[in-house]
Amino acid sequence: MSLSKPVDGHTPYRGRFAPSPTGPLHFGSLVTAVGSYLDARANDGEWLLRIEDVDQPRTLPGAADDIQRTLEALAFEWDGEVLIQSRRLDLYRAALTRLQVDGQVYPCACSRREIAACSPPPAVDGGLVYPGSCRAGLAAGRAARAWRMRVPECEIRFDDRVQGTLRQDLARAVGDFILLRADGQYAYQLAVVVDDAAQGVNAVVRGADLLDSTARQIWLQQGLALPTPTYAHLPVVSNAAGEKLSKQTGAAAVDAAAGSTLLAAALNFLGHPVPAEIRSGALRDFWSWAVASWSIQRVPVQRSVFPRQRLPP
Ligand code: GLU
Repeated sequence: MSLSKPVDGHTPYRGRFAPSPTGPLHFGSLVTAVGSYLDARANDGEWLLRIEDVDQPRTLPGAADDIQRTLEALAFEWDGEVLIQSRRLDLYRAALTRLQVDGQVYPCACSRREIAACSPPPAVDGGLVYPGSCRAGLAAGRAARAWRMRVPECEIRFDDRVQGTLRQDLARAVGDFILLRADGQYAYQLAVVVDDAAQGVNAVVRGADLLDSTARQIWLQQGLALPTPTYAHLPVVSNAAGEKLSKQTGAAAVDAAAGSTLLAAALNFLGHPVPAEIRSGALRDFWSWAVASWSIQRVPVQRSVFPRQRLPP
């Protein structure tokens, strides 16, 4: 894979789009693809494609190919090979082993019901804050179900390129979090940190639904002595109920045949209105105009936006 021109004289920009193949590409994920692609290209950077199918029970057969075909039909161009997480379990295992050797993770025997019974306030992502029951070791007769990462007592702070400075107290917001689940699957948090580092990604541009995961990822990067990329969290498209568009909330697949009109709707959502002649023109002209016009400062500083206009097909 070739390195592109340095942005600041030292570091070549390397970004990525990392969809989970739980269904076809919908308008919400297209917005993330457009924002991450334009930010990479406008910075003379590379843009990688990674299929995040580490959560096998949520993976829909055929969805990864479908997403790739839709991106191709819309003339996105990614650099290098597409990385498939389900083929990289050895790397996640090695990272977990390293954390085990260092004592940064511990086995946990608690069931969801036991955690809920401690009635902690809900975690930032709507899950349960882990009360730390197994932190000091498994009680006699209890078997390990999952592995958890110890979190610090201090706040994690980061400067998001869109959302500004953010802080999270991991102990209060999430508690010690899972890296290997009871069903034997590696957690998204571990896979994403390992892969961003392995691929040399230094600029993450993604949906703001992942803002609450960022502190966990920074803490894991520190635990594994990996560099922290820059972060930019784009507003996510929500439905009238304020829920993020997703397969679970019944989001429809985009119709790539709509070409520049569809891409223009996504870009408009990110604070860049597109002139009529570009909207109705060829994909190649759309991309040249969009790369030249992109400015991350124009992206609305919001976590989620309900579009006023009807979404394109
Ligand atoms: N796979 C995640 C998703 O589709 C994105 C992960 C990331 O960008 O860090 O929501």
